[in-house]
Amino acid sequence: MFLYDFEGSVYLNVTNRCPTACRFCVKTDWEWSFRGRDLRLESSEPPVGEILAAMDERLAGPAPREIVFCGFGEPTLRLDAVNAVAAELRRRGGSPPLRLNTVGLGSLVHGRDIVPELAPLLDAVSVSLNTVDPALWEELHRPAPRWRGRGFQAARVFAQGCVAAGLRTRVTAVEGTGADLDAVRAYADSIGAEFLARPALD
Ligand code: SF4
Repeated sequence: MFLYDFEGSVYLNVTNRCPTACRFCVKTDWEWSFRGRDLRLESSEPPVGEILAAMDERLAGPAPREIVFCGFGEPTLRLDAVNAVAAELRRRGGSPPLRLNTVGLGSLVHGRDIVPELAPLLDAVSVSLNTVDPALWEELHRPAPRWRGRGFQAARVFAQGCVAAGLRTRVTAVEGTGADLDAVRAYADSIGAEFLARPALD
C-alpha cells in the first residue's frame, strides 16, 4: 500500500529505502505493517503516475488535513518523485498542505542542497533529529557506512535551511531513547522550528 489515511491526513509511502537503520524504527519488527496497513513495497516503488491517480481517487473523497510524503522509508531517496507529485498538486491548485517527513539526510545523499527544490513545493517539513548529541545521533540512527560521521550535521543544516526557506519546520524526537529532549527543544527554538516529542511506537 502506498497511499493511506491516518489521523485525518493522507500519507504517501513512496519508498521503503533508508540511509539509516534507526534504532526506534518499527518497520522490520512490524514486518512493514503500520496499524494494519501493509506498507511493504517489495521492489516496486509506485511511479509518479500511479501516485497521482491514487491521489485523484482519494481527493474525490473528504478533504484530508495534510498530504504527507513519508514512507516506511526515507522519501527524499525518491526526490524526483516527491518533487513531481508535489509540483503537480501545486499546479492543480487547492491542494491540502503538503508536508515532508524526513530524517534530514536528503542533501547529503544527493550531494547538493535540496531545500531550494523543495521549498516552493511544500508547506511543511518534519525532521526526525531525536538528539543534539552527535555520538548519540549515530547510535540512534545507525546510518549506512557512507553517511557515518556526516549525517548529524547534515540533518541540522537541512532543518536550518528549511526554516530559512520559509517552510514550517518541525524538529521531532522520540521519547525514551536516553536523549535530552529539552536540549532538542532548545535547539528547535534556537533555529525557529517547532518541536515535537513523540512516543515510541509500540
Ligand atoms: S528513516 Fe524512518 S523508516 Fe528509515 S529507518 Fe529511520 S525511522 Fe525507519
